[in-house]
Amino acid sequence: MPLPNLAKRIKNIKTSSTLAIQEEVLKLKKEGKEIISFTVGQPDFDTPINIKDAAKLALDNGYTKYTAVAGIIELREALSKKLKNKNNLHYSPNNIIVSNGGKQSLMNAIYAIIDNNDEVIIPKPYWLSYTEMIKIAGGISVLIETKAINSYKITADEFEKAITPNTKAIIINSPNNPTGAVYTRDELIKLGEIATKYNLYIISDEVYEYLNYTNEKHCSIASINEDLHRRTITINALSKAYAMTGWRIGYMAANDEIIKAATKIQSQQTSNICSIAQYAAIEALSDRSSSNIDNMVKIFANRRNILLNEIKKINNISYTFPDGAFYLFIDFSKFINKSYKNTILNNASDIAIHLIKDFGVAVIPCTDFGMKNHIRLSYAISENDIIKGIEKINEFTQEIN
Ligand code: PLP
Repeated sequence: MPLPNLAKRIKNIKTSSTLAIQEEVLKLKKEGKEIISFTVGQPDFDTPINIKDAAKLALDNGYTKYTAVAGIIELREALSKKLKNKNNLHYSPNNIIVSNGGKQSLMNAIYAIIDNNDEVIIPKPYWLSYTEMIKIAGGISVLIETKAINSYKITADEFEKAITPNTKAIIINSPNNPTGAVYTRDELIKLGEIATKYNLYIISDEVYEYLNYTNEKHCSIASINEDLHRRTITINALSKAYAMTGWRIGYMAANDEIIKAATKIQSQQTSNICSIAQYAAIEALSDRSSSNIDNMVKIFANRRNILLNEIKKINNISYTFPDGAFYLFIDFSKFINKSYKNTILNNASDIAIHLIKDFGVAVIPCTDFGMKNHIRLSYAISENDIIKGIEKINEFTQEIN
């Protein structure tokens, strides 16, 4: 007899296609194939030594037990200090919860505020997990077209037009994955005015905060005024800034009510994050880290320049200037419906398949980011690989007719 059906909720949930592609790259590499991978969503640096040492010390000290669900007080104090000094955000340690990566912080935020059929506005393109998380919570993603000329940033007008009586929240991601766009303070002020006017929550995903190559300081929308402070859930993580993706340290800062709700959810789901990672996080947040971050940002800025220089050699593509994160978002529309080796290229996924098979270059097709003709390149790879990889993409495009 067949077993009973799985839960209906699981039917429409996609697995993360970026993680699937990265697994495919690892598999091909294991088989001995040489692959240049522009797919990585993480710094290619090791976690700094002082942070690793703090984790070793935590082990030696026997800090191996359950902690408070929201994280040890010393860590939440360090985060409170960081938010004040770096983001001009005033949150007490009691208004902060540490979770398993920015991902769990986002999921907690969504569970805390989204009921069945509540709508969440998401500017397109978007990080692919938002829509799936909202589905899990029973909500509805309302995907809003944005314009390349605005670097795919949603305008206040586009935001306002998308609002219905069911709208509960908007997700703003700056610096942005996949576009690299960074919202200016003025842009955030205008979006904030709409959120206030229609009484909406804002989920502000700031996990790429440090990877900002503009002259303007990163702006946290919750720092703009008191009203935005109370209606914004600020999400951040140590993953990207401290080369700590595997440690799973994310956090949320929000008003009392949301923090209580999110703590309830996390207490029943995972409890605290790994105790050892929490001690490592305190070290990461100390002043001793600033030179590591500065160095990493300089290296990424240099790679971005190299990539922008090389990419100019490829005809018939367009891209928006990436002000942050470590991604370049490229429009391949001019190659869609064209022919390569007698097969028609229907979308960016077709392009990605040929690139990896025939040229050993892995890229992320952005279908699951809401844009089926675009490709995302990550420049969290060596300068040599950037140069070689772009050369191969160029060769490929020249064989398309
Ligand atoms: N938000 C965005 C925009 C991301 O790109 C990612 C990871 O790639 C996350 C959140 C999740 O980060 P973490 O690895 O800390 O869960």
